[in-house]
Amino acid sequence: MAVATSQFLEKTDEQKAMTEMVRQFADEQIIPNAEHYDHEDEFPEPIVEKMKELGLFGVTIPEEYGGLGLDLTTYAMIVEELSRGWISISGIVNTHFIGSYLLMKFGTDAQKEKYLARMATGEIRAAFSLSEPELGSDVQAIKASATRSDDGTYEINGQKMWVTNGLLSDLVFVLVKTDKDADPPYKGMTCFIAEKEPGVSENTGDYAGLTVPPKIKKMGYKGVESTELVFDGYRCPAENILGGEEAGLGQGFVQMMDALEVGRVNVAARGVGIAQRALELALRYSQERKTFGKEIAQHQAIQFKLADMATKVDAARLLTLRAARLKDAGERSDLEAGMAKLFASETGKEVVEDAFRIHGGYGYSKEYEIERLYRDAPLLLIGEGTSEIQRMVIGRKLLQRHKI
Ligand SMILES: Cc1cc2nc3c(=O)[nH]c(=O)nc-3n(C[C@H](O)[C@H](O)[C@H](O)COP(=O)(O)OP(=O)(O)OC[C@H]3O[C@@H](n4cnc5c(N)ncnc54)[C@H](O)[C@@H]3O)c2cc1C
Repeated sequence: MAVATSQFLEKTDEQKAMTEMVRQFADEQIIPNAEHYDHEDEFPEPIVEKMKELGLFGVTIPEEYGGLGLDLTTYAMIVEELSRGWISISGIVNTHFIGSYLLMKFGTDAQKEKYLARMATGEIRAAFSLSEPELGSDVQAIKASATRSDDGTYEINGQKMWVTNGLLSDLVFVLVKTDKDADPPYKGMTCFIAEKEPGVSENTGDYAGLTVPPKIKKMGYKGVESTELVFDGYRCPAENILGGEEAGLGQGFVQMMDALEVGRVNVAARGVGIAQRALELALRYSQERKTFGKEIAQHQAIQFKLADMATKVDAARLLTLRAARLKDAGERSDLEAGMAKLFASETGKEVVEDAFRIHGGYGYSKEYEIERLYRDAPLLLIGEGTSEIQRMVIGRKLLQRHKI
């Protein structure tokens, strides 16, 4: 058992150095400032600038494009540390990471040349957009569409919903319908790399036809904006079809689903990070607070809670690293990524709730960090596929692998 555990938890010297560096960054710059940015719902610009200096926008981008060229496992370790600080900070990197994954795996050489080097430094940032007002889980029901014009450009029309980094991003990897009659529907879907002006609500010039309405007000996950995107006659050149017009037309659904698999490892790592932080807060508070003449940590009911919390955090971390390592080794990891996402996001919510209970009345006060975690954690149950959708993925993959 010990051997199997260390196999997944072991870190190379480089991984140790990276995670220690990011943990220190989280302790010194993210955690002390999160309350302010959460309260004001303000984009944490100085923290993001520092992340650019640390190379955190190019963790998985190859060195030839100026990235760090690290694997998914190391990325997951880094995301855990960022989320331990504040999940909104990892949210700023996450859609960017998915965009760079899509480019690295499916992009043409020209697309890689055009975007990857500037993405690695964080000079330009990416969002990714599947959801619409009427759908999230049922991606094949997408209504936004693109039609080829006589001049060879594609005109995109339709409304997208819940786009993380929707306002401040420079690129949106957006999935739309290019063939309404395709059967099955997923074969008629294409991913466009839609360029836009960052921070601008009404795009003009080359990007006219793309409007970003005011950011959506949320219970948590503040600081990073979630927006709608309204495409109304927005023109996208054919060379901005992911993979090029010839190879990429009609491939968008498959490309996006592939990216969601690494996205699930990413969300799982976020679940581990927030749960780890909640456990730390509970361990500290339970040894400070006294009731009935002793520290509450000395009451067996509280100790049992701590024991369950720590066990779940370790299990979630093991599942997450297993999925990441399998992907890095080029092995199938769809089932494992679904399990990791399901378990780690539920763990995030449960461990945060237990830590909240351990804080008693003070957990309800904005003076205590756990109050923010309590509002942040539920997002992870939803993004990148809800728990119900993960169970559908896991069930389907299980039956495929064990077909009689
Ligand atoms: C803060 C935030 C940020 C987000 N960022 C992005 C982003 O950057 N890009 C993006 O594209 N999307 C993003 N999303 C959208 C997110 O991916 C969707 O909200 C999610 O996929 C769920 O879709 P939905 O909200 O439409 O719920 P629905 O699909 O309408 O589901 C409603 C409920 O029904 C359940 N359900 C649905 N179908 C089934 C079924 N077949 N069987 C059983 N139960 C089912 C669901 O699990 C859920 O409980 C974000 C969402 C939030 C809240």
